[in-house]
Amino acid sequence: RFSTAAALEELIAPPIHISYTQNLINGQFVDAASGKTFPTIDPRTGEVIAHVAEGDAEDVNRAVAAARKAFDEGPWPKMTAYERSRILLKFADLVEKHNDELAALETWNNGKPFEQASKAEVPMFARLFRYYAGWADKIHGLTVPADGQYHVQTLHEPIGVAGQIIPWNFPLLMFAWKVGPALASGNTIVLKTAEQTPLTALYAAKLFQEAGLPPGVLNVVSGFGPTAGAALASHMDVDKVAFTGSTATGKIILELAARSNLKPVTLELGGKSPFIVCEDADVDKAVELAHFALFFNQGQCCCAGSRTFVHERVYDEFLEKAKARASRRTVGDPFKKGIEQGPQIDEEQFQKVLGYIKSGIESNATLECGGDRLGSKGYFIQPTVFSNVQDDMLIAKEEIFGPVQSILKFKDLNEVIRRANTTNYGLAAGVFTKSLDAANTLSRALRAGTVWVNCFDVFDAAIPFGGYKMSGIGREKGVYSLKNYLQARAVNGQLGVRRR
Ligand code: NAD
Repeated sequence: RFSTAAALEELIAPPIHISYTQNLINGQFVDAASGKTFPTIDPRTGEVIAHVAEGDAEDVNRAVAAARKAFDEGPWPKMTAYERSRILLKFADLVEKHNDELAALETWNNGKPFEQASKAEVPMFARLFRYYAGWADKIHGLTVPADGQYHVQTLHEPIGVAGQIIPWNFPLLMFAWKVGPALASGNTIVLKTAEQTPLTALYAAKLFQEAGLPPGVLNVVSGFGPTAGAALASHMDVDKVAFTGSTATGKIILELAARSNLKPVTLELGGKSPFIVCEDADVDKAVELAHFALFFNQGQCCCAGSRTFVHERVYDEFLEKAKARASRRTVGDPFKKGIEQGPQIDEEQFQKVLGYIKSGIESNATLECGGDRLGSKGYFIQPTVFSNVQDDMLIAKEEIFGPVQSILKFKDLNEVIRRANTTNYGLAAGVFTKSLDAANTLSRALRAGTVWVNCFDVFDAAIPFGGYKMSGIGREKGVYSLKNYLQARAVNGQLGVRRR
């Protein structure tokens, strides 16, 4: 049924040697304090790629101590901003030099198509660091015209040691969104990667050393959430925590931060983003964009357009074409050319997505195509489309995080605004229309941190990204992200100027 199912018959062995599996603490790759390791898995097969040091609270303590020392004693915050900027630029050059190794490692560990990783994600990774390098020497405070005889200035200073916890869906890009602004503004870091995808962050950290980043400035600990992650979020010597992942874990992070030292928290969480196709839409283009909005990255995007609202006038045509497009989607070994979709990240997510498909069928949504796993090994799922989806169905309310498109019908703009906003999430929204009025109305009425009009998943380094409601707190990327890693000090001096 799927044109490239045959691509699953023979898996390409990636030609990569895994060089870095230990934690990076104070400039040294070291085993976990406990000596424990955990297997990291190839999602194409479920087989082990490598055994990685399993960091826990003790490793986090050691990493935080190294980051603390690098912050308090320097050289990082004491270097000139220009010197910091040059290290970020050198790192970006090294990323470009190692583009294909990084992309292959990302594909092997995560399952995303190699073409996507090598042509889009790794270049974007380098781009993000160049963007932040540009900010390093442009961060400055204000002079403030206070009442009275005072000379008041604000100093914008780094917060200190940043704890950063990232997910598995975009391991490199999430590394950049967190590490870039923190380093540009002079902080030191302990980064905890997702247990599913530890490999590329270790490789990138090694490149940072080559670029001249001093020891202790960026420490990387692999390990699990409730042990290593929780130790970082509740550490008394961590000055700020940034997290991307599920809303449920985001709540835990906020609680851990509050119960320990009240460190400020930024959260980038889940979504159930509407993608709205208006009655005037060019249906072929709308189908293609709605397909991309949902299926990109195996459907594993926090901002996936996972509720496709289609105006009743174009609904039937849209549905036929959306079903045909999903049925043509090429699924298979992500290392092969022309493959659009690889496996889901792991057994747990694979089972979770299949569970949502079952729930869609049981709640009487119409299964238009797909609906099952693909092949018999690894975590491949058929591109799946449901029509006749109602707002109160589980598949219309909860984050599926997989290749499952839910199509809903609407009659007018007020109705779709109300329904699109009836969710606890507010990460993103997509609007497809030729009408300026409809575009302007929707892009102001939808309660979401990003509204894409006639486009989707545009992730320029300069554009802020983050959620309304339970999709998060704060913004990443762009100038907004620097605020997360800076604090303002007001210096207030008596002027003693004589009146003229
Ligand atoms: P998760 O939120 O549990 O994991 C994300 C990160 O948080 C990982 O590094 C993990 O180790 C860490 N973590 C987990 N529990 C922790 C704890 N108690 N304390 C500190 N850190 C902790 O996500 P998951 O279990 O991998 O995936 C579950 C769901 O989350 C997915 O189905 C999807 O809906 C959502 N998700 C969202 C994003 C996103 O980009 N917003 C990314 C991945 C997953």
